[in-house]
Amino acid sequence: MVCKRYFPPEQWSVFQQQIESQIQLQTIGYSVLGVPLSAVTLGFGPKRILMWSQMHGNETTTTKALVDFITWFLAPAQGDLQHKLTLCIVPQLNPDGAKVYTRFNANGIDLNRDAVVLSQPESIALRGLFDSFAPDYCINLHDQRSIYAAGVNGPAASVSFLAPSADENRSITPARKIAIQHIVALVKELKPRIPYGIGRFDDTFNENCVGDTFSRLGVPTILFEAGHVPEDYQREVTREYIVEAYKIVCRNILKEPLSYSIEAYFDIPENTVEFVDVLVSGARIKNKNQIIENQFLALQYEERLKENTIHFVPKMHSFGSSPIQRAHRTIPLASALSEFVFEFKAEKLLNRQEFDVLFPENQYFIE
Ligand SMILES: [Zn+2]
Repeated sequence: MVCKRYFPPEQWSVFQQQIESQIQLQTIGYSVLGVPLSAVTLGFGPKRILMWSQMHGNETTTTKALVDFITWFLAPAQGDLQHKLTLCIVPQLNPDGAKVYTRFNANGIDLNRDAVVLSQPESIALRGLFDSFAPDYCINLHDQRSIYAAGVNGPAASVSFLAPSADENRSITPARKIAIQHIVALVKELKPRIPYGIGRFDDTFNENCVGDTFSRLGVPTILFEAGHVPEDYQREVTREYIVEAYKIVCRNILKEPLSYSIEAYFDIPENTVEFVDVLVSGARIKNKNQIIENQFLALQYEERLKENTIHFVPKMHSFGSSPIQRAHRTIPLASALSEFVFEFKAEKLLNRQEFDVLFPENQYFIE
């Protein structure tokens, strides 16, 4: 199933119908707008893994990867895993957000800050499933933005992981230790297959985050962040890396206890904010009535849903006389003009009061 960045509930339903005879389907609650929240159970083994994706509706890569992973898991060749593992998967915890491509649910709440208060029906449904399914492991699935590097001056963070803290001191609790060892194993196995960066996310404790709460409750929890691969804005390459990661975790759970060191986890480069999407060289910029020549103009894409497609709209991030921002792509002004002419016009990037980007005269008509 080839997918783009937009992966709404209807698309998941098409897949789910294809596997219906091979899975157990459960409705664990309803979204704010009344959409059933489905959990899919596969396998019948003693080790129980709870996975949930798209709690942030605009984070689709890990859901697309679930399509491939579930297909793989259900194949006869995986008979051994099916007998040893039971997977309970919520593919889209936030279907309302998935539909309109927003991080938040229909009440405008970030479900990953609602783990203690449980003010939203989606949060209550996930917590109810956690309590009833009683997982041995949790896998918390997200996308991260294209701004991250794996370590200072590192490559783009194409995948990142986190073993969420269980307390303010970020103690290595028994559950967290298991999650940490799985992440070390993941990075070791993924590294030869991924020519970009693999990062570690900040582990500041916030019990409002679901992973932190489940970690505090003593269940090893691994947070996945599907990240950016240069030129792969549909995240179909990242999707393949995530599928690989799912398979690795499943296999490694059967190899426990793992013997990796805690230090190896903290050696994984931490994510840093370093990238913009595009850097335009040779821009003329009008800043408060002063015209500055030969600037580097940093553009960051904003993702907008229009007619069932995500459009990547360039927005001004910053500018300067040297290329201080690292960018996934650097292009001269002429290329930027031809590539983004419609977006520039539509977004009135040219007419902003403080930062007018001026294009060479006669080359471009400023409205
Ligand atoms: Zn997220």
